[in-house]
Amino acid sequence: MDRRTMVKSGAAALVGMGLGGCRAAGPPRVSAARPPRPRVNLAPVRVSWDRVIRTTVGLRPHRDGGFVLRADKLDEKLLIHNYGHGGAGMSLAWGCGTLVGDLADPAGVRRAAVIGCGSPGLSTARQLQRRGYDVTIYAATVPPDTTSNMSWAGYTPTSGLIEPERRTPAWDAQFRTAAEVSYRQLQLMVGPRYGVYWIDSYNATDDPNPRPRGGGDGDLLPEPLRTGRDREVLGPGEHPFPTQYAIRQSNLAIEPSIYLDALVRDFLAFGGRLVIRRFESRRELAALPEPVIVNCTGLGSFSLFDDQELVPVKGQLTLLVPQPEVNYRASARLADDSNASINPRSDGIVVGNSQERGVWSMEPNEEIRKRNVDNAIAFFSRMAPPAPGTRLTRSEAPRVAPAVERFFDWSDAH
Ligand SMILES: Cc1cc2nc3c(=O)[nH]c(=O)nc-3n(C[C@H](O)[C@H](O)[C@H](O)COP(=O)(O)OP(=O)(O)OC[C@H]3O[C@@H](n4cnc5c(N)ncnc54)[C@H](O)[C@@H]3O)c2cc1C
Repeated sequence: MDRRTMVKSGAAALVGMGLGGCRAAGPPRVSAARPPRPRVNLAPVRVSWDRVIRTTVGLRPHRDGGFVLRADKLDEKLLIHNYGHGGAGMSLAWGCGTLVGDLADPAGVRRAAVIGCGSPGLSTARQLQRRGYDVTIYAATVPPDTTSNMSWAGYTPTSGLIEPERRTPAWDAQFRTAAEVSYRQLQLMVGPRYGVYWIDSYNATDDPNPRPRGGGDGDLLPEPLRTGRDREVLGPGEHPFPTQYAIRQSNLAIEPSIYLDALVRDFLAFGGRLVIRRFESRRELAALPEPVIVNCTGLGSFSLFDDQELVPVKGQLTLLVPQPEVNYRASARLADDSNASINPRSDGIVVGNSQERGVWSMEPNEEIRKRNVDNAIAFFSRMAPPAPGTRLTRSEAPRVAPAVERFFDWSDAH
């Protein structure tokens, strides 16, 4: 069968996979009247089995009722919970850390223990340090051995987070603050030091007006935080994908290993202490010297705090040899409703993603691995190569080429 006929609609692909997480705002900006634009030139991605370098597995800490962010008591201590961030723990961590600070401040003490060293734990520790707290992180594992290191790591603040019918006004308010603070903070971290960056994402599709799938969280994010506000539809001949259209938008993204190591360094540089320790019971926590304890143990809260609502959503990524020249993400939904996707990072080109609810195994699922790589081979091998001698495109080419005089500052008088 012609692969083109296999491609249905890719625009909802990221959302459907829990990758995009939030809906694109407004109708696509496509005008039947406008003349075709030159084709964007994208470096071809080389997907083949002999370029596979590893497959990683992480268990997202999901709760149907959303993350838990509230103050409690543990004997005489203030215990603050901050866990259960599902597929959004890289996206929401800074804001959740601010909210933890708001809950801690009234205690009037300046010494805190943070339990857990993933993205929520590290960001919470930094937010407390910024308020003048003396912070110790206690954790059974530290980067690179956390769920956060196994993340696909886009700014996906609503991904796999809460069942719509479980939302409450109080939870929504916490979520919005978390999403806003985090979005702003991550923007300020863009650059090689933290491994945070903006990237063009293309959804290859035969439908220029795809309907968003799944979710029910459409109004969760305030308008200015929605990805896809700058989305534009590239028509036939304007993009290299084997589909009629490609919907392009900018996304904020994170390289987990660069980012988490940088947070650890910052935490230590600001006087933090890091203790490797696993807690088996609340009693052990109550014996800590710090008067404030922040629980950022993610899925660890299932046994440590007996939160039976926590459920793992297993996610699996396969990575290929990095290609620095590939500076875009792309995805498409195929006829069998599975996806082909690539996400280029300096530690490898991520192929695919997955969501297996209720699966605790950390072993790669061979069937998913095969499907992700085979789909990517089938789809991306059909991309048109860039025209010889042309520059690769990062963003839209100028509509009209500037006159050569512009580059030499020649005025009309010359
Ligand atoms: C494949 C995949 C793709 C993802 N994509 C995205 C994405 O695009 N965007 C996004 O925002 N999020 C994404 N996520 C989700 C994100 O990675 C998680 O929400 C986040 O990592 C959860 O952080 P955490 O702190 O809860 O868990 P972890 O990072 O695992 O940290 C938990 C910490 O608690 C410690 N701990 C646990 N129990 C104990 C105990 N009993 N005693 C001592 N220490 C303990 C652990 O050792 C660890 O240090 C993805 C996840 C996966 C797996």
